[in-house]
Amino acid sequence: MRTRSRAVRSVAILLTLCLAAPQLLEARVTPTHGFDLFSAQEEIQAGQQAATQVPKQLPLLSDSNPITQYVQHLGQQLAAHAPGEKWPYSFHVVNQKEINAFALPGGPVYVNLGTIQATDNEAELAGVMAHEISHVVQRHGTRAASKQMAAQLPLAILGGVLGRGALSQMAQLGLSFGVGSYFLKNSRQSEKEADLLGADIMYDAGFNPQAMAQFFEKIQSQGGSRAPQFFSDHPSPGNRMEYVMEEVDTLPRKQQYRSDSDEFRQIKQEVAGMKPLSAQQIAAGQKQGGGAAGLPGADVTPAGNMRSLNHDDFQISYPENWQVFGDQTSAVTIAPESGVSQNAVAYGVMISVYQPEDPKASLDQATHSLLSSLRQSNPDLRQIGNDESIRVNGALGRSVDLIGTSPLQDQSGRPAQERDWLVTTKRADGSLLYLVFISPDKDFGSLRPTFEQMLRTLKVR
Ligand SMILES: [Zn+2]
Repeated sequence: MRTRSRAVRSVAILLTLCLAAPQLLEARVTPTHGFDLFSAQEEIQAGQQAATQVPKQLPLLSDSNPITQYVQHLGQQLAAHAPGEKWPYSFHVVNQKEINAFALPGGPVYVNLGTIQATDNEAELAGVMAHEISHVVQRHGTRAASKQMAAQLPLAILGGVLGRGALSQMAQLGLSFGVGSYFLKNSRQSEKEADLLGADIMYDAGFNPQAMAQFFEKIQSQGGSRAPQFFSDHPSPGNRMEYVMEEVDTLPRKQQYRSDSDEFRQIKQEVAGMKPLSAQQIAAGQKQGGGAAGLPGADVTPAGNMRSLNHDDFQISYPENWQVFGDQTSAVTIAPESGVSQNAVAYGVMISVYQPEDPKASLDQATHSLLSSLRQSNPDLRQIGNDESIRVNGALGRSVDLIGTSPLQDQSGRPAQERDWLVTTKRADGSLLYLVFISPDKDFGSLRPTFEQMLRTLKVR
């Protein structure tokens, strides 16, 4: 897709060169197109449905609040320069301390108050918002959902999705764009696209695009405990400053960029004295208020009914309200949707195949070499107790209990302790099929029966 957009762009450059009008020599990023089952109408509907749920889960400032009005005003100025489809953008402020922002399909954009507090100038705030607007332009949410639906639905049904509505199919699969949804967590590729498009939007609105990259780098190095949520939703693609500057170099040099407006200075003063809520407080408030979805989400509690997954390498049953991420041939994660982000699994099970260097290695040896390779990628993972021989639905297996660090936070805002239960079993070709059952330590006991039930249904091919 990247090569295609580059080709389109060079054609565009070529055309403008032929026209030889100097004011047309500007090259703008062309929005990429990807596989998307949602029509524009459904895209808007999907975002609006999710938006009606947001105030139940997050404390929003009212539309008449001067801070919201300022953010709406700035947002509209930026959105006026967004390329592609004219989505009905709306802008909202979440009374939350952590630095974060997210966008729903088709236009709704949310900025945390903590983000405004962390900006040093208006261009930085414009950068965050232009980046979010770009996720909307690129339709990153519905594209991710479409990919997931394609992996989950048989081809015959998928063919009919367009006719019957992607949104209702999505609901039938138990997927959503709600707060904290898997589909609102972006990939590194999506991040880079949003940065480049966002740089153009900023430039066209009169801001220096460098401020966007600067802000992201600043919160990465100084954000401390307030920034991880941002980078979990918007993982850094690396070299942000470099490629944003390269993009700026393709645009006509500007003598001067916009400086801070009086409104921004007033708002900055106002937010400086405010004490927005922490994610922890918001989650606790929801529990007290009996809100439907706690964080991470109600779907973490496994449904009683099971559904079966037929993978090329194995067969397993899992709670029907959990999702399968991955396809027939890849490593898969089976997890409640709200228990997974792009980078990490907080609740669920990962199933994969491991090829030991020595194909003749015993189950025990192969398990130990797998363990050391797992530790290499998770250095804080440590074994508790000894590994044991177990039976996995009749076959010989090894069981290892591990302690690691959860992507979730505990009461005090520190990373919670995680329990990882590794089970391995040998395949005919000498490789290992392994499962890692994952949960924050405090919830492991209540999930264990479900994990054991899943294991009893495992058939290795
Ligand atoms: Zn992003």
